Amino acid sequence: MSAPDYAIEVEKLEKVYAASGKMPEKRALNAIDIKIPRGSIFGLLGPNGAGKSTFINILAGLVTKTGGKAKIWDMDIDQHPRASRAAIGVVNQEITMDPFFTPEEALELQAGFYGVPKSERRTLEILEAVGLADKRDAYVRQLSGGMKRRLMIAKALVHNPPVLILDEPTAGVDVELRRSLWQYVRRLHDEGTTIILTTHYLEEAEELCDEIAIINHGEVIACEPTSQLLKRLDQRLLIITPREPVDAIPDELKDLDIRIRQNGDLEISYRNTETGIGRLLEKVRATGISVADLATDQPNLEDVFVAMTTEAA
Ligand code: ADP
Ligand code: MG
Repeated sequence: MSAPDYAIEVEKLEKVYAASGKMPEKRALNAIDIKIPRGSIFGLLGPNGAGKSTFINILAGLVTKTGGKAKIWDMDIDQHPRASRAAIGVVNQEITMDPFFTPEEALELQAGFYGVPKSERRTLEILEAVGLADKRDAYVRQLSGGMKRRLMIAKALVHNPPVLILDEPTAGVDVELRRSLWQYVRRLHDEGTTIILTTHYLEEAEELCDEIAIINHGEVIACEPTSQLLKRLDQRLLIITPREPVDAIPDELKDLDIRIRQNGDLEISYRNTETGIGRLLEKVRATGISVADLATDQPNLEDVFVAMTTEAA
């Protein structure tokens, strides 16, 4: 199978959870479009309840979509449910394990489940890679939370999928383990695996991902390379209503990102971390423009960003 441009492509993907008992119907994904480039580390970033797990679980076949299309590795999940799922390894948000198996047995079982022939199994290699080789014969119930998390990743890798999906992989994981997890994820990525992870930590997405989609209330509100997104998060608009009409931008202001709106207002786009409003205003006033009114505006990304950072605190 030749490698597609996109590891995952979804179009108008929708999930409405039906009402049950006292719970009203819930639109968890509102016809979203996302394309995840092959070879990327892609972050799905959003506050709790945004719809991240719903997205992952539809791809994994654990949740049935109510609308739209999804392709994994160029295979439609409706037309090729088995083959498409064989292209992903999914690590779920909750730790789920059978406590009575050893890591080695757990991987062997998983390989059997995926129909990986004995001769092609890489059980020890994978245990080695996630740092569990010395625990191969321990019972899962004896493993620490971090080790269980790593075993879950190991299980997701037994069928050698080109795409690894991690749903909130560092939830409840200490800093040290987080480091070693990321090191391993980066290594997989360097070896060619496309990585998709969900998180509600901006810093985590920022540190690891080369592209980020921000999702909130079931809508994608941004999807772009990380560097571009960070710039945008920092972006502010200053809108100045001049007392007298301004016909042309004064030369002294030409180094600013400034334009005259149709209604005659001046709109200046600036970086919050670089320029203060005070300095901008001074600069404008110095040209003789008298300010009747002013307002600031920011992309709605900021709201989500604030929601996420307060939640993480
Ligand atoms: P996230 O992973 O971003 O925190 P989820 O995809 O888990 O978000 O949830 C999105 C929304 O869908 C939330 O409002 C959640 O309560 C709701 N939801 C999730 N699973 C179910 C379900 N099985 N039944 C009903 N509502 C659900
Ligand atoms: Mg979730």
